[in-house]
Amino acid sequence: MPSKLKVVPNARLGAGCRLVGTRRNGHRSTSRRGATTLLVSDHESTMRRGFLNGKKESKDDGREVNDLSTTPAAASKTKSRPTGPDIAGNIYCTIPEDAAPGEQVTECYIDPTRRAALNKIPGFPQPMQPPGEVLFRLGESPGKGMGLFATRKIKQSELISDHRPLLLSPMSLRLPMHVQMAMVLGGRDVLSESIENLVQRMTPSNRARYMALANSHPEAGAELGIFQTNCEGTRALNEVGDVVIKKHGQCRFSTVCDVISRMNHSCSPNTSTYFIKQSFSWRVWATRDIEEGEELTSSYTIMLASASTRQRMLADYAFQCQCPACTDASASNARRAKIIEVDFNPELGLKWINDASLSDDWLVEKCHAQIALIEQEGLETSEEYWEVFVTLMRVYLCLGDIKTARKWAARAYECQWVHLHREAVDGQDVALVLDEASMEYERHIVWCSRVKEEQ
Ligand SMILES: [Zn+2]
Repeated sequence: MPSKLKVVPNARLGAGCRLVGTRRNGHRSTSRRGATTLLVSDHESTMRRGFLNGKKESKDDGREVNDLSTTPAAASKTKSRPTGPDIAGNIYCTIPEDAAPGEQVTECYIDPTRRAALNKIPGFPQPMQPPGEVLFRLGESPGKGMGLFATRKIKQSELISDHRPLLLSPMSLRLPMHVQMAMVLGGRDVLSESIENLVQRMTPSNRARYMALANSHPEAGAELGIFQTNCEGTRALNEVGDVVIKKHGQCRFSTVCDVISRMNHSCSPNTSTYFIKQSFSWRVWATRDIEEGEELTSSYTIMLASASTRQRMLADYAFQCQCPACTDASASNARRAKIIEVDFNPELGLKWINDASLSDDWLVEKCHAQIALIEQEGLETSEEYWEVFVTLMRVYLCLGDIKTARKWAARAYECQWVHLHREAVDGQDVALVLDEASMEYERHIVWCSRVKEEQ
């Protein structure tokens, strides 16, 4: 699976050639890179209806995190320069405000209402929960510059890292026209200035880590160029309490996290990430078993898109992916198209429930074929992987087999990189089935719906 990336001069991939606001795991929404004004989505998003979701109240995820690996940010003796909103209506602040010595901190440029809403999250920011040991190292990646490599065997679903970003900023600023005009005439760029300010506010060690990242946009200057090269969009902050960005699909905030930034691209990535707003940190999971010494990779593109589409997206990074899915494109394209084609929607489940001529295994077989295809393509990071497990769980509920249903519920739950954002929408029954102390599963809408009545 390690991809071979051909680096075009000046594109220092390893140190983090990242899409601006790349949508990771995001096969169903487009993303492209460009200037900081680009609106992109990340992987914390796509909401689809699954197969006969049992209804239950949604609940917020409150999982937490902690620190790890690289040099911990020497906690700034909080330089909380109190500032009022600037011309764009934003303030500068450090999260957490009262960091303990050595605690990772993020310099933020954010609107005051959203900042206040974050403070209403119980215990904000909650502690991070990194693994007890560092699971990766920085090293040379042949043909790609630098990259991250596993320091031991890592199991599928293992948490690899939990890290606060170095900075957070909106991806674009909305300024009144007359202000924009004045800025242009005055030769000023608010976003560029804000990024420079954020870097200046960093602790010396954080600033050093930031400035060590790749800059594929030297023409934009050091701070902004590094931001454009390495920033990772997060939708998690689009909705904080009552503060909501309503435009669907738009990713308004971007972060730079030097762990995520250092992962090279693969069209069959072995990790996935998710921003946890409660702890204000990025978690990285292994989406399949990773061998010691294997490079950790993430996707900068829409994973299920065709090879040519992916290449077009990657062209913005000035490199060509030469992973197996790209070099043997026709076979890979056919498999990826097939994965998209099988849609485990409620209609498919209802068809099976209501059609007695179909065997009990009809849907199970489809699911297992889908799992095999996804694993063959190395797309465990995709939402389709989670969907298959949820479908299998519901299939066994239909058959009145709670033991097997629980087994598949556990697999879905282990795909935290998808489960965290799909649970509230169409995976609430996973928790219901997993609760061994409860018989609530018997109230699931499909429970025993395929159990034939004995005469
Ligand atoms: Zn590729």
